Amino acid sequence: MLQPVDLDAFLAFLAGLAALVIIGLQAWYDRRDALLADHRRLNSAFSCARCGTTYVRPRRREEAACPRCGWNNVRLRF
Ligand SMILES: [Zn+2]
Repeated sequence: MLQPVDLDAFLAFLAGLAALVIIGLQAWYDRRDALLADHRRLNSAFSCARCGTTYVRPRRREEAACPRCGWNNVRLRF
């Protein structure tokens, strides 16, 4: 048994649904952008104590070997 639905109520329901979808998408993209920015920002910089080479390694790490001489250096802190 179908009940007649008021057109205004139906349109209001559709508008509310569309607003929810848009707000949800915005939240999802905001979260995704924040995660990607963190991933790009979390590089570690090193300056070799033996040969003076400056280099960067992805992710946060405390030590990395120099690409030129192989010396193990600690992360630069700013
Ligand atoms: Zn080096």
